[in-house]
Amino acid sequence: MSENVRNTVILGSGCSGLTAAIYAARANLKPLLIQGHEPGGQLSMTTLVENFPGWPEGIQGPELIENMHKQAERFGTEFHTGHLHKADLSKRPFELHVGKEIILTKTLIIASGASARWLNLKSEQELIGHGVSSCATCDGFFFSGKEISVIGGGDSAMEEALFLTRFASKVTIIHRREAFRASKIMLDRAKTHPNIAFLLNTVVEEVYDVSKKDVTGLKLRDVKSGRVWDFPTSAMFLGIGHIPNAQAFKGQLEADDDGYLLVRDYVHTGVPGVFASGDVADRRYRQAITAAGTGCMAALEVEKFLEEEGR
Ligand code: NAP
Repeated sequence: MSENVRNTVILGSGCSGLTAAIYAARANLKPLLIQGHEPGGQLSMTTLVENFPGWPEGIQGPELIENMHKQAERFGTEFHTGHLHKADLSKRPFELHVGKEIILTKTLIIASGASARWLNLKSEQELIGHGVSSCATCDGFFFSGKEISVIGGGDSAMEEALFLTRFASKVTIIHRREAFRASKIMLDRAKTHPNIAFLLNTVVEEVYDVSKKDVTGLKLRDVKSGRVWDFPTSAMFLGIGHIPNAQAFKGQLEADDDGYLLVRDYVHTGVPGVFASGDVADRRYRQAITAAGTGCMAALEVEKFLEEEGR
């Protein structure tokens, strides 16, 4: 066990965690940032980011993350790669089990994000950022005038499809069943939209075309009839939900039914000294700028907490 008790540990290397690190490091707290299996978070999986203020021509997601990383490092953030598999928040300092190490800390910022749920097809994974996306707000613009597909039957899929009609000439929602999880109002909006079509009882078996590094179509299967066919499309957007990365805190921190951490006063969890920021506690906005904003808030709260505790 490390003898060293940290002022603060930040869990997550996406734009929320990195913003928290910039603020905490500039406050001379010498933060330790733990980056897990998706370093850089969702931004590192996207291409051009055009809605992050300050970049009039846009910036590549991985470059934006790299810049934030450098900025956090410059002020003294220490980085550690590993997977948090257990946390004990019942005693102080808090105990974090990362790989074989146990890290002790006075405060914790959970900025571990929410991972998009994927179909987990090999071709899908290889085409992420090249026509396969889990973020309509980020990538929809690139498909202006094109025919594209959205996968899912919940509110996220309806919302993405409706949003994408601003750009695409036609959006096809592909859903594996006939019944929908989406709320009636969202479903009705999608059903009555002239540029939205539905393919029901249909699953994606493959995304074409890995050799061209671009989405050109989907191999689909009708789950009732078994018919398999090729469906031309320029993009595939996943709207099949997100999984918040908060499993290590189950039973210790309050979460909603889908596992998103519940916070009050923006970033406070129910455990004093433990804060949550970014997508792990936000099912609503999920934007880079909002994640960065709450990361900043969490770091300021850490500073205040440590001052009050007489750091
Ligand atoms: P969701 O309600 O869980 O829906 C996920 C959809 O994806 C379901 O239709 C599901 O199909 C499908 N799906 C899951 N895994 C799949 C797979 N491997 N292959 C194919 N399809 C798959 O998730 P969500 O739409 O992200 O919504 C989550 C919560 O956020 C909900 O409470 C929702 O109301 C809320 N939300 C609200 C709004 C809004 O009001 N504006 C917007 C977005 C989200 P099955 O139905 O067959 O399981």
